[in-house]
Amino acid sequence: MTELNFQCKKCGREFDCEVGKISFPIEEDRPRFEKDIACPRCGILSMDEVWLTELGQTQLGAVFMSAE
Ligand SMILES: [Zn+2]
Repeated sequence: MTELNFQCKKCGREFDCEVGKISFPIEEDRPRFEKDIACPRCGILSMDEVWLTELGQTQLGAVFMSAE
């Protein structure tokens, strides 16, 4: 299970979100998360409605490096 740090584009809030398993489909330009991203204020958001923060990118990079 992996927690990533996001920033909500709607309210600007930064939050940690448990995204479950992360996969990196070759045919897509973005990772796929097992669980939905949910802002504590706005509820469930799509990838287009959030930014991955610098911390989140570091966290995602670590997952990518350890992925087989
Ligand atoms: Zn929000």
